[in-house]
Amino acid sequence: MSNTANLSKLCIHTITTKPWDIEMAAAKYSKSGVQGITVWRDALAGRNIKATGHLLRDNGLNIVSLCRGGFFANANSGKRNALIDDNRKAIEEAFELGTKMVVLVCGAEPEQSLEDSRKQIQDGIAAILPDAAAAGVQLAIEPLHPMYADTRSAINTLSQANDMVEALNSQWVGVAVDVYHLWWDPNLENEIKRCGKNNALLAFHICDWKTPTTDMLNDRGVMGEGCIPIEKIKNWVRQTGFNGFNEVEIFSTEYWKKDQSIFLEEIITAYKKLK
Ligand code: ZN
Repeated sequence: MSNTANLSKLCIHTITTKPWDIEMAAAKYSKSGVQGITVWRDALAGRNIKATGHLLRDNGLNIVSLCRGGFFANANSGKRNALIDDNRKAIEEAFELGTKMVVLVCGAEPEQSLEDSRKQIQDGIAAILPDAAAAGVQLAIEPLHPMYADTRSAINTLSQANDMVEALNSQWVGVAVDVYHLWWDPNLENEIKRCGKNNALLAFHICDWKTPTTDMLNDRGVMGEGCIPIEKIKNWVRQTGFNGFNEVEIFSTEYWKKDQSIFLEEIITAYKKLK
């Protein structure tokens, strides 16, 4: 029997169990004692978003965030405006779903400098802040590992994310700390303290780093099977006063091939071992 008390801060991203549709994920998470769900936008395709929000809550799940908005960087200003509109749509979807947070994978374009991409990201977030405030939805900037600096994010350290949050200076923008992206950073402890002081630590994502990693995107590990000091980072995060969910976010071609019920039990077992 699962001890649900231990799972009170466990959230799972729908992408982690990608072969399941959102209805199946909700039923299975709920049955296993998982208390939170982060919804990837593709999981909502073709659905009434409001009704899906009700379904998740009826299953006893907290809807922690919507993943993801972002991708603000583009050399073409017309395209940038279209990307900003898509972020407005993401905020609207979050509102309908009934979650208070949209996670931002901020974007990058290899044909322009990282500095240009960062400026466009900051301008893009500034443009949607009024929409976020009106919807009561916070935006969490998620720094990505530098191996994604070509096309996914020009924000690669927590320091850069903190700089941007401070420059934007709004209660509607903060950061998402993902151990997969940040574990290697020698300044991580200080930067976690910094965003904690700003009340800007909004989300905490966990998984592990496998050696060798066979795919830059889809070979993440379950907590405990890699080299990330998850407990150490989790303690730094908790010491800031962060009291939110530990969100399990695993993209893995290998694990998506498994029986997802077995995979979910493995995640829960690994999670319970974390101190
Ligand atoms: Zn993440």
